[in-house]
Amino acid sequence: MEKSRIDIINHLADGDTLSRDEWMILLSSLDDGEREYLRVKAQEVAVSHYGKGIFVRALLEISSYCKNNCYYCGIRASNRDAQRYRLSKEEILECCKEADALGFNTFVLQGGEDPVQNDAWVVDVVKAIRAAYPEKAITLSVGERSAEAYAAFKEAGANRFLLRHETRNDEHYSQLHPSMMSSENRRQCLMTLKRLGFQTGSGMMIGSPGQTDEHLYEDIRFLEELQPQMIGIGPFLPATNTPFENHSPGSADKTILMLSLLRLRFPNVLLPATTALATLCSNGMERAISAGANVVMPNVSPVEQRKKYSIYDNKKSTGAESAQQMQQLENRLNAIGYHIDYGRGDYRN
Ligand code: SAH
Repeated sequence: MEKSRIDIINHLADGDTLSRDEWMILLSSLDDGEREYLRVKAQEVAVSHYGKGIFVRALLEISSYCKNNCYYCGIRASNRDAQRYRLSKEEILECCKEADALGFNTFVLQGGEDPVQNDAWVVDVVKAIRAAYPEKAITLSVGERSAEAYAAFKEAGANRFLLRHETRNDEHYSQLHPSMMSSENRRQCLMTLKRLGFQTGSGMMIGSPGQTDEHLYEDIRFLEELQPQMIGIGPFLPATNTPFENHSPGSADKTILMLSLLRLRFPNVLLPATTALATLCSNGMERAISAGANVVMPNVSPVEQRKKYSIYDNKKSTGAESAQQMQQLENRLNAIGYHIDYGRGDYRN
């Protein structure tokens, strides 16, 4: 007899391997009641591993310059209207100081692939942060670099690296990126980061142009292979002056479904409630946490630069320029039975 859809969810929650057909059913055919069943299971699993504490990461957007031309991204090189800025080492250290005062124990440095912020520059900045904060976690998200560069970042004191694979399907990848970028190279980078001992994050947008459920299935299989410590997913959102500016955004419900599926498949993974989801719907953070997410990344970039890191339109931020805003975050989490966990939030095996 054929397994019911609830049985398939239960098998996933029990850690059984699912067939392709079963995955496709979960991705494509659950009704509202089954999705709710899945969500509750995923929330239970997240709580059983991480409790009701939500890890916070101080997000620094260090540059809006980028040499790449990803078709979806608002800060792609050919966007003449994009506003550009880059933070200096001193400004970054100032942001870290403020984040430290607010209680953060993890700094995330994310930016476009800015040729000025080259490998040597990154090494120098990481060393300076490491010297000032010996105990804190330093996370980089500065794109595709050589294996030597990644090794040097690690040596300088970086602990974690975020690099979404974006899509596992090569043809879909080429619909989202110009031909000089390759999904193969991105995967190579991820394998290198893992080998070097970085806590590694990958992930993909949900509802990016041309994406199908088969692609999401391939993404899940790739993540099984990679075994990342973090998985970042959020809806695709259109960005003005990009080839996809008139494309419709990804769906919040699908993003929530994916969060729950990933939580059940990767019970220990660090799974952020992303800014993209919070931009798409005002209760996106709460919905993500209730579906298995356990990380939020408040923005500590200088306020006057923040709107310039416009990878998509109307980007929201969980601002953290003041203790008052951290209290607001705490209040929102309390309202759904959670609280901020200020620990480093390392991956737990
Ligand atoms: N240059 C770095 C950081 C990129 S920004 C890197 O390549 O890793 C982080 C993530 O934002 C990207 O990996 C992408 O998945 C997501 N992103 C970019 N443009 C977006 C858009 N228009 N809508 C939703 N997410 C987007």
